Amino acid sequence: MHELSIALAMADELARIAGENNSGKVLHVTLKIGSLSGIVADSLRFAFDAVKLENPLLSSAEVTIEEIPLVYQCGDCRKTFSSDDMYFPTCPQCESVALKIVSGEEQHIANVELEV
Ligand SMILES: [Zn+2]
Repeated sequence: MHELSIALAMADELARIAGENNSGKVLHVTLKIGSLSGIVADSLRFAFDAVKLENPLLSSAEVTIEEIPLVYQCGDCRKTFSSDDMYFPTCPQCESVALKIVSGEEQHIANVELEV
């Protein structure tokens, strides 16, 4: 259900973008989904297909979902590294836990192609 509410919010956003550009049809949309966002790409694709059926603006839109890996930067040695560990990550170089998330939290529309 989480993915469905996200798909609906994205459909609203797409309707706003299309309206601003006087377009009646979305041809292609690229979504960026970070691995920390908690969104399952396949579920989002499925939810988006359901939303498309109800929405003439999106009925023929192609959807590309880019999954963004979780990347941290170490606050001590500045190393940047990707990790699947979202609970207890440590720096592989100096074992610091003072880490900052660089990417992986994304859940947004990255690119939209409209029919004009
Ligand atoms: Zn480090």
